[in-house]
Amino acid sequence: MECLFCKIANGEIPATIIREDERVVAFRDLSPQAPVHALVIPRRHITTLNDLGEDDAALLGHMVLTAQQIAEQEGIAESGFRVVMNCNREGGQTVFHIHLHLLGGRGMHWPPG
Ligand code: AMP
Ligand code: ZN
Repeated sequence: MECLFCKIANGEIPATIIREDERVVAFRDLSPQAPVHALVIPRRHITTLNDLGEDDAALLGHMVLTAQQIAEQEGIAESGFRVVMNCNREGGQTVFHIHLHLLGGRGMHWPPG
């Protein structure tokens, strides 16, 4: 299996894991873009957002709720945070296993770059 995030999910490659359960793993981004920068990934390999179907709706909801819980745990729920999912080249996706970015601990700008 060549996928970096599959390897993090199964423990082959180390990461600073914040939360995990049977469906998702959350860990700190190696190159943080904010004081809090976590990634939430499904354990199951899904390449891009384009590969999702109706059957994945609960999984995606669970990823968002996991981000919400991490925001609470990291103390940024009230101050605010951003969740981002990048898709393919123009979306800025560099790792092709879907992931939700949770960013917070500083003011975010809009529009994003
Ligand atoms: P994206 O550009 O949306 O595909 O995001 C990929 C993210 O994965 C980037 O923010 C990277 O800094 C992060 N990343 C890449 N390799 C690792 C790793 N080994 N551990 C943690 N985060 C990583
Ligand atoms: Zn994968």
